[in-house]
Amino acid sequence: MIIVMKPEADQAEVDRLLAQIEAKGLKPLHMPGSERVVLGALGDERVLAELSLEADPYVESVKPILSPYKLVARDLHPHDTIVKIGDASFGGGRFGLIAGPCAVESESQLLASAKAAKAAGARVLRAGAYKPRTSPYSFQGHGPEGLTLLAEVGREVGLPVVTEVIETADVELVATHADALQVGARNMQNFALLKAVGSVAKPVVLKRGMSAKVEDLLLAAEYILAAGNDQVILCERGIRTFETATRNTLDLAAVPILKKKSHLPVVVDPSHGTGIRDLVTPMALAGAAAGADGLMIEVHVDPATALSDGPQSLYPEQLLALGKQLEAMLPVLGRSL
Ligand code: PEP
Ligand code: MN
Repeated sequence: MIIVMKPEADQAEVDRLLAQIEAKGLKPLHMPGSERVVLGALGDERVLAELSLEADPYVESVKPILSPYKLVARDLHPHDTIVKIGDASFGGGRFGLIAGPCAVESESQLLASAKAAKAAGARVLRAGAYKPRTSPYSFQGHGPEGLTLLAEVGREVGLPVVTEVIETADVELVATHADALQVGARNMQNFALLKAVGSVAKPVVLKRGMSAKVEDLLLAAEYILAAGNDQVILCERGIRTFETATRNTLDLAAVPILKKKSHLPVVVDPSHGTGIRDLVTPMALAGAAAGADGLMIEVHVDPATALSDGPQSLYPEQLLALGKQLEAMLPVLGRSL
């Protein structure tokens, strides 16, 4: 339920209503705005009827929260949430470039790729230490050693790092090494993992599952917020369709829909979204034009030797060129890199 207070309601009246909401077993939310205070009540809204809030002299209006994802929805939270990874900001007009190789392979590979990412204007370095691979025979990542290497290289080049966590048991370890955690497409509905990343004080990049509807993605994000972590970045990374010309079908219409329905920042991953190097730059620019708050791009210093996702990894000079195009384009769209 959304309860809009009258302008004359003072703190005592607000506290009185918050206490009444809590006493009914609902979770009270307090959202002071510049003109009015808005309160929220999460839980079984039917019990609120007993409070007759409409009749309260300090209440202007009461309306139900219709969306099933109540914390993630814009209804209760009209302003953009800005999520920070290190010094990089996502949302509220701030655009962030996240780049790096698909996986941590070796120190020299990671360092060279990280330098390429930084030179192109990336604000966050990304590489996987744990790789969820379709085949059990594919490179699975270097695990804890990869995490240590990633943190070291991030420090060396001066970039915060984000990396994927694939198991609940690893959340704490990954959170001690990384500035942000990634939940991958294959784990978008791993509810135990969502709850676990919801209980750490690190931002989460949540990727859309390959067969997930927009609503499924928002409900997955709701798990993380409900567990106490509101620092969530949504990531459109393509879905499975009948089309086989690309690895996935990058659903760019999801970007403005997500932005409309939710206050959380949205980034686009055109690398997994297309699977084809030459399509990454045009779809990255299209993602920015569609309203994304950032991009997540795979870059590799030598894609031909990459242990994963070489065919979709940009060469360093391609990322550099993309960075320049974004720099020119974003101000026109009212955003800055
Ligand atoms: C990745 O980011 O390298 C990855 C495995 O992505 P996704 O979960 O989107 O497939
Ligand atoms: Mn990858």
